[in-house]
Amino acid sequence: MKKQLVFLMITLMAMILAVSCNNNKQKSSETRVAAFDISGIDSTQKPCSDFDSFANGNWKKHNPIPSTEGAWGSFEVLDKENREIKIKGIIAELLKQENPVKGSEAQLITGYYRSYLDTLTISKRGITPIVPLSDKILAAKSNAELIALAGELAIVNISGPFDVYVSADDRNSKMNAIFMGQDGLSMGDRNYYENKDSSMVKIRAEFVKHVDKMFSMASWDVKAPGQTILDFETKLALIQLKNFEMRDPVKIYNKIPFTELQKLAPSVNWADYYKNFGLHADTVIVQDKNYLKNLGLLIKSTPVGMLQTYFRWKLLSAYANLLPTQFNKESFHFFSTVMYGVKAQRPREERAIMSVNRRLGMPLGKLYVAKYFPESSKKKVSGMIENVRAVYSERIDKLTWMSAPTKEKAKKKLAAFTWKIGYPDTWKDYSSIDIQPDKLLENSMSIALWEHNDMVKKAGKPVDKQEWGMSPQTINAYNNPTNNEIVFPAAILQPPFFNPDADDAINYGAIIAVIGHEMTHGFDDQGAQYDGNGNLSNWWTPEDSKNFIALGKKLEVYFSSIEVTKGFKIDGKLTLGENIADLGGLTLGYYALEKSLEGKQKPEKIDGFTYQQRFFLGWAQVWRENMTNESLINQVQTNEHSPARWRINATLPLMKEFSDAFGCKGATSDSLRIVIW
Ligand SMILES: [Zn+2]
Repeated sequence: MKKQLVFLMITLMAMILAVSCNNNKQKSSETRVAAFDISGIDSTQKPCSDFDSFANGNWKKHNPIPSTEGAWGSFEVLDKENREIKIKGIIAELLKQENPVKGSEAQLITGYYRSYLDTLTISKRGITPIVPLSDKILAAKSNAELIALAGELAIVNISGPFDVYVSADDRNSKMNAIFMGQDGLSMGDRNYYENKDSSMVKIRAEFVKHVDKMFSMASWDVKAPGQTILDFETKLALIQLKNFEMRDPVKIYNKIPFTELQKLAPSVNWADYYKNFGLHADTVIVQDKNYLKNLGLLIKSTPVGMLQTYFRWKLLSAYANLLPTQFNKESFHFFSTVMYGVKAQRPREERAIMSVNRRLGMPLGKLYVAKYFPESSKKKVSGMIENVRAVYSERIDKLTWMSAPTKEKAKKKLAAFTWKIGYPDTWKDYSSIDIQPDKLLENSMSIALWEHNDMVKKAGKPVDKQEWGMSPQTINAYNNPTNNEIVFPAAILQPPFFNPDADDAINYGAIIAVIGHEMTHGFDDQGAQYDGNGNLSNWWTPEDSKNFIALGKKLEVYFSSIEVTKGFKIDGKLTLGENIADLGGLTLGYYALEKSLEGKQKPEKIDGFTYQQRFFLGWAQVWRENMTNESLINQVQTNEHSPARWRINATLPLMKEFSDAFGCKGATSDSLRIVIW
């Protein structure tokens, strides 16, 4: 899996791939609120013991999860509005152009969109577009030949047991390096292969049925493909690092000469793989040498026929959504209904919009910001970021657990933070992507090839610090540790995150706390291991480091005790960085609000709430969300973010400021206090 930027929320990617949106009656525009939506409050609930139910209880009751969704909350509502009104509108305008210039944004977007909707051609062509690759897999007569071929397959997003990519070198962040990590699990995470809970056993049985059905629909005559794939992927899963282990940047940084790969796994023909992938490597940074060693042994002991079945499955599954309807439906059934509890597939037109948005995010984003992003927002948000930075610096000065030398270094790192707001200053040239209105699958491969070339040409070159890791129409934000930067795409700068007309206290609890969250990622258990230049290098005194780890341990134990649904608890290790960032972001947001009021008359109550109370209501409003049980189970087993309900209910009681605002007493107060930043 590729190295992740640190996001604000669970990336919608898994959901976007398979899920789909809908005919739900609610008009998105009606969900907009001027400030805080008091109609969402359930005043029969007690704010001190269950703030989520108090602040959002009525909203949750009146906003059930639409049949086409696995979760429904502020992010999803905004995302739907973004797609169904803004993005759809842009595409509709473009469709009016006759004969747009080949390679222009209009031609790429409308051509891809039309090819997605041309179900007649898609149906007529059947699986023909993937047959050449399937034949190549069958023609490879040894495991060595198959792994060599995997280099070619990886270019068009057909993943194998490992993933090769180019990214900033963590120990020399100005330069790009070649990385190699574990990959190749259809269900995404090791937990889905080894957890013994009955719900997981059931999903594995469904997976076997799903693979069997896909092979049968493709008329690929293979004996028991489902069980074959599950067995092989289970073996793969059991030699992979666990998800929380992947969060340790020192552990997963192992720079080795290319020649050492051959020693680690002699049964794999690395040179041919890299040649076919189009990369020349003298050194590679591998996540885990043991994995490669064990993978070599696994491949050696796997019959070639089994490995062929594995790669054919990866091919079929990767392109299922672009094949005829029966493949889309079956893929939706497993990857959305079984895994996320989503009941109904979105209409094809909506899926077409989502697919354009996902595959051509940047060309579309260029048009999106021209139409929907007011330049004034940039200035407003940059001002907010600087306020949070100033408050952070003051708080570092006051920390009791950190010594003066480490404080100096922390402040140096804080001062070196950079930010990006809205959209990239320069746009890449996408004109070489070949898009034809009747060739959906080839279009997708052409985009993949462009992305691949864009990536491999960076190897060994200086990092382009201006590059964006997210399209501007994405409702999310991220921290990139090797750039020491925080990034806020245009689409998150809207209500309920940022509302220029709203009461300040609500904005501080929403967008300002979100900014604080991203900034704190630079000082969470991962981020704190990078210095101000974005290099993985320890700037802590041993004593301060010990104190910081001990505070994190307290938070880990606390979150690990929370059961979110029967049999499933939050993984305190996996979510530590996000939980530190939520606690830090809220604290910074709160004190930034207090600072903004210094020397001024304190704001009046609004709707019966003090400004301090409104701050916490602003946070709760951002994280209001209903989830299916399947999505909830998926999140706690695979994702670094605690479920939304617990980003409210677990985090707020840790803060004295929250208890004071609502007059909470007793068990929820002093014994729980954890202050890190
Ligand atoms: Zn985060």
